[in-house]
Amino acid sequence: MVKVRFAPSPTGFLHLGSARTALFNWLYARHTGGKFLLRIEDTDKVRSSKKFLDEILGDLKWLGIDWDEEPLCQSQRFDVYRQKAEEILAMGNAYKESEAVIFKVEKGRQVEVDDMIHGKIAVNTDDIKDQVMIKSDGSPTYNFACVVDDTYMEITHILRGDDHISNTPKQILFYEAMGLTPPKFGHMPLILGQDGAKLSKRHGGVSVEEYKKEGFLPGALANYLILLGWFPGEDREVLSLDEAVKLFDINDMSDVQAKFDIQKLRWLNGEYIMKHKTEELLPLIKDQLLTAGFDISGITDEYISKLVDLYKIRIKTLSELGDLADWFFRDDFTVDEEGKKKYLEKEGNRENVKIFADRLEGLEDFSRENIEKICREIAEERELKAADIIHPTRMAISGKTRGAGLFETMELLGKERVIKRMRGIHK
Ligand code: GLU
Repeated sequence: MVKVRFAPSPTGFLHLGSARTALFNWLYARHTGGKFLLRIEDTDKVRSSKKFLDEILGDLKWLGIDWDEEPLCQSQRFDVYRQKAEEILAMGNAYKESEAVIFKVEKGRQVEVDDMIHGKIAVNTDDIKDQVMIKSDGSPTYNFACVVDDTYMEITHILRGDDHISNTPKQILFYEAMGLTPPKFGHMPLILGQDGAKLSKRHGGVSVEEYKKEGFLPGALANYLILLGWFPGEDREVLSLDEAVKLFDINDMSDVQAKFDIQKLRWLNGEYIMKHKTEELLPLIKDQLLTAGFDISGITDEYISKLVDLYKIRIKTLSELGDLADWFFRDDFTVDEEGKKKYLEKEGNRENVKIFADRLEGLEDFSRENIEKICREIAEERELKAADIIHPTRMAISGKTRGAGLFETMELLGKERVIKRMRGIHK
């Protein structure tokens, strides 16, 4: 049975690269009917914290990743590492330096790794220093604890980032010393920014948490991360985790560096937003609005749902709704000054808005159809282009040059507020 693991260190947030590693291990386990385990690498007691651990586990769940069995915590197993190191010492393959236990690397031979993604990699042991197993403070080194635990957990395949490629030959030496067959290894190329530099804040953010806050949907982020390392084929790009589980093939994993493209992620997120039911988006949108400082206490879910219906085909992240539709929640909405000049200063346009407002005043049923009818009538009577009424009106009521359809938004905003704002431009 395939047994894989994800082994985060709770010393910081969940990085996008680590999230991708977790996803691929999970995909592999679920595709093969194997097991996906978690190991918490918290040997650094000073830098590890419960807060980071909770955040990492929360982010994994949010992405749709579940795990089998309770996570194994390295901080609970110091005596096991020490005992294993003592065994290697007793076999004569290690020596002590004060409290530290150090593994003796036999020089002049090749260590080979048959990497599932990169193919054969060979390293000469002349290039590998003796390896500390237990440090003088009693804590194990990463490489040693990793081998002891991967053995204990009966891990069959290790998929991790290229940043660990130089660790693998060292780990293989430990397996050999303990008379064990190493698991299979696969190293995924790192995720870089579009400019080829290490992924950083300026490429759009590095942690899962940042994308969550920005209003990316978990399915979209997971979908995008999967595409950074595996090609599902047939130009397929939008695929759910369930579909990915069915189609996944470890042999199709890419051995070239993946470039993170925030625009593509935004596009994908827009696709997911569009496909989601409004009722599913509603609580998320409300959270976003609250975080952005909107007072939604007196506003019904029905009202916000209608707004979401109007905007969900136009936004790429959930947080964009607050920016584009602030005018539904407050009278001091942001105004696009360029657009204001363009549409309100154009000769005749203010007058057009006034006439439109006068006519709307008498409208009993303030429906989108009726509003549109009046607009078209005025255009015809006065031989105007409808655009010369629509653009300045949109500017007057929303301060924006674009948005959802004008008549629908007027209906939702309500007669009183619409007319007040249309009149407001004449003061
Ligand atoms: N704690 C290591 C990391 O986060 C795990 C590496 C491994 O998968 O062996 O990079």
